[in-house]
Amino acid sequence: MTAAADLVLTNAEVHTLADPDETAAAVALRDGRIVAVGSRFEVGHRAGVETEVIDCEGRVVLPGFVDAHTHLPMVGRRLVEADLSGADSPGEAVERLAARAAETCERGDREWVLGFGYDESGWSDERYLTREDLDAVSDGRPVVAVREDMHLASLDSVALERLRDEMPAEDVHADDEGADGAGDPTGVVVEDALDAVWAAIEPDRDQLTEFVRAAQARANELGVVGVHDMVRRSHAPAVYRDLDTAGELTLRIRINYWTDHLDAVRELGLRTNHGSGMVRTGAIKTFTDGSIGGRTAKLSEPYADAPGCGDWDEGDGENRDEENGNGEDGTDSDACGQWVVDPDELRDIVARAEEADLQVAAHAIGDEAVAAALAAFESAGTTGDERHRIEHAEVLTDDLIDRLAESDVVVSAQPNFLKWAREGGLYASRLGDERRLASNRFGALLDAGVPLAFGSDCMPLDPLFGVEQVVTAPGDEQRLSVTDALRAYTRGAAYAGSDEDRLGTVEPGKLADLVVLDESPWAVDPAGIGDIDVAWTVVGGETVFGSE
Ligand SMILES: [Zn+2]
Repeated sequence: MTAAADLVLTNAEVHTLADPDETAAAVALRDGRIVAVGSRFEVGHRAGVETEVIDCEGRVVLPGFVDAHTHLPMVGRRLVEADLSGADSPGEAVERLAARAAETCERGDREWVLGFGYDESGWSDERYLTREDLDAVSDGRPVVAVREDMHLASLDSVALERLRDEMPAEDVHADDEGADGAGDPTGVVVEDALDAVWAAIEPDRDQLTEFVRAAQARANELGVVGVHDMVRRSHAPAVYRDLDTAGELTLRIRINYWTDHLDAVRELGLRTNHGSGMVRTGAIKTFTDGSIGGRTAKLSEPYADAPGCGDWDEGDGENRDEENGNGEDGTDSDACGQWVVDPDELRDIVARAEEADLQVAAHAIGDEAVAAALAAFESAGTTGDERHRIEHAEVLTDDLIDRLAESDVVVSAQPNFLKWAREGGLYASRLGDERRLASNRFGALLDAGVPLAFGSDCMPLDPLFGVEQVVTAPGDEQRLSVTDALRAYTRGAAYAGSDEDRLGTVEPGKLADLVVLDESPWAVDPAGIGDIDVAWTVVGGETVFGSE
């Protein structure tokens, strides 16, 4: 006699995503696992008197989403602090900050008044927030409003006074009214000047706990059951483990530790996939290059809007074309963009990680950087067991796609980045039309047999938005079917975390991590996939979002 299920989801359109077209009508869950998938009749036998039965009324049931690339504390911080993203004037942004100032003053626990996500491009008065605007927020407390792109912030007089000495002068904007041309600071600071801001507002453990709680609630609301979180010099690992111990985690967290922590991870004997059911050690995360937006991704061909190879090493940019030969190792030191971690250092990181049986996740956006990451994995004698990953891999040549297919390396990419590959978008300016359409070629990668994992990089954290972007992508080689996109966001991401035996499909024996959608992504207009509501999210058999 089979034991009764704890929970049965019935009258559903279950897409198992195990086989591309496999569907069922009901799922039974017991002790945190899936125990039966089949027709209403077959699964109905699993319902006992104690069993909770949810009639899904024809809704779509999928394996819960796994986001393979997140920065959860930042998501939480934006939810907890003043949200300036919807403010449609400087005045409204100031009002929201003032409300946040009053709230935190009441609690008496924080001095800094912070807001995130302002975007002046839609304001009738199209200008950055200034010191004068922000001085109206509070008497005597430091106030910071960070712009949507996180490369620019506006400070009030108190914050500016405190941090200005630590900021590079060229990154602190000033008006030009002074007698000598160097006027008063406007309150706007950019790029490296933000380092001082981040250091000053570094959350303590209690704050970080608050951010993580907010972020996990948001993730569950969007159908996310697991994340691969990138962690660098932060209380996050301690917070994740504390919440796990307290039984308060509703999101499975795989921690990818930055290379700063490689020695510590080795010393503690942590190995990839060590941990509990909820918190596990993942990969060692490293950069190679920068970003397309910042013109710091390492490209083999110049940026379309900076023929002299962009911001990089402008000093001798003039004779760059004559010098533009390949270096001996095939990783051209004269190519456009910038190494954040150069190929030699990368090889060393991979070798040290492999000695300790640790997976490596290398951020590589430009084709030169992807080539360098592949070379580092190859030179370390990668067998495929490590399941190393390249994060982003946005600009790929055909040759690189072939090499990736031969290598067993996982491409962990962001379908939501395709929002920049649209006609007239950021990638059209940076890369030109040909390379815009050749960026993020997910269709070509899947055709070649490259393991593909999807994640959001929290821009924004929202799997269905990403699915919409890739299903409606402008280029033929970029586009995926709804099924393939959902598979990359479930089993693909699980595979990138060596977790495909537990997660990523709706099959008996897998963890009971599911999402129930109000509408079918196969049935709605593709441009509306991102607007589909999540009805329920289930993690380990518990409903963590939604109610009957
Ligand atoms: Zn990231």
